[in-house]
Amino acid sequence: MVFVPQLAFVERKALEYELGQHLLNKIRQHNIPIEIYERRLPSVDPNLTARERFFHFKRTLVVGIWRRREFQTCKPSAHYQLPLVSGCPGLCQYCYLHTNLANRPYVKVYVNTDDIFDRAQKYVTARKEETVFEASATSDPIAVEKWTGSLRRAIKFTTEVPNTRLRFVTKFADVDTLLGLDHQGKTEVRFSINAHWAMQRFEQGVPPVRKRLEAAACIQKEGYRVGILIAPIFMFPDWQREYDSLIQDVAKTMPTAPLTFELITHRFTMRAKAVINDVFPESELPLAEDERQLKYGQFGYTKLVYRREQMKELESFFQDRIKTLLPKAEILYFV
Ligand code: SF4
Repeated sequence: MVFVPQLAFVERKALEYELGQHLLNKIRQHNIPIEIYERRLPSVDPNLTARERFFHFKRTLVVGIWRRREFQTCKPSAHYQLPLVSGCPGLCQYCYLHTNLANRPYVKVYVNTDDIFDRAQKYVTARKEETVFEASATSDPIAVEKWTGSLRRAIKFTTEVPNTRLRFVTKFADVDTLLGLDHQGKTEVRFSINAHWAMQRFEQGVPPVRKRLEAAACIQKEGYRVGILIAPIFMFPDWQREYDSLIQDVAKTMPTAPLTFELITHRFTMRAKAVINDVFPESELPLAEDERQLKYGQFGYTKLVYRREQMKELESFFQDRIKTLLPKAEILYFV
């Protein structure tokens, strides 16, 4: 499932970079309409509804320059975000990007990767200890890796700079470009999966869980560190049976692999709820505020999470099932 955009915005300055030229050629080969822009993205038709605007942007690739001076921190997953891509062509209704990319849900790839890796190296030098970079804090980088090759570069970077590790998470399965690399075990690829109930209702534009697990097994055979994210975890009528079956599927696919689990329960912000109501008016996502409790997030957003008793029930269920079915796996966190 390779992302083929229907429109590309290319920043003129990006054409001064090798990756910018490479992308321009590739976009032309696909006969995708191109608009060259200066620093400000062209505006879209003001008559579009919020839903039309959302889907228009989701099919748009932006090729631009990373201009910030600093990387954002990235707790608890890593020390810093690695800003290679932002946005994702997937159409998951519950997507965490609704909160901060609500007005611009296009996929943007940055072409000045030398600047980005130079900056990354400075962080490693300054810290004087192992530094972990997260390449998927605001994107699913696998979705555009066949276009950019930036993850391959990042993997190479970790092998050239001591004390560096890379992590990223994906719901996509196109991992063949990551095979055969000398990654030296410094990259961790995590696959985000969910129960059939959630996948069927809320995940569009991404491959099925079965394909993601096949990709995980393939990546694991290549010697990469592999992690599983179960996210977002929902409580629905048959949740115990379905999540048990999901963990069994992981155990069957990677019975002996050293594996980590990250367990993230469903949460939403009021900003995301407004986007979901506009874009997916028929959505069955559970978004009733009076059934949740408030939690303050690290970026100043207030989230609505499951209530304390429900969280306890979920946590003890997942702890039990993972320990039983995959005794060697490590649960990194449950939130
Ligand atoms: S794959 Fe991840 S980043 Fe992409 S739309 Fe789905 S939840 Fe969002």
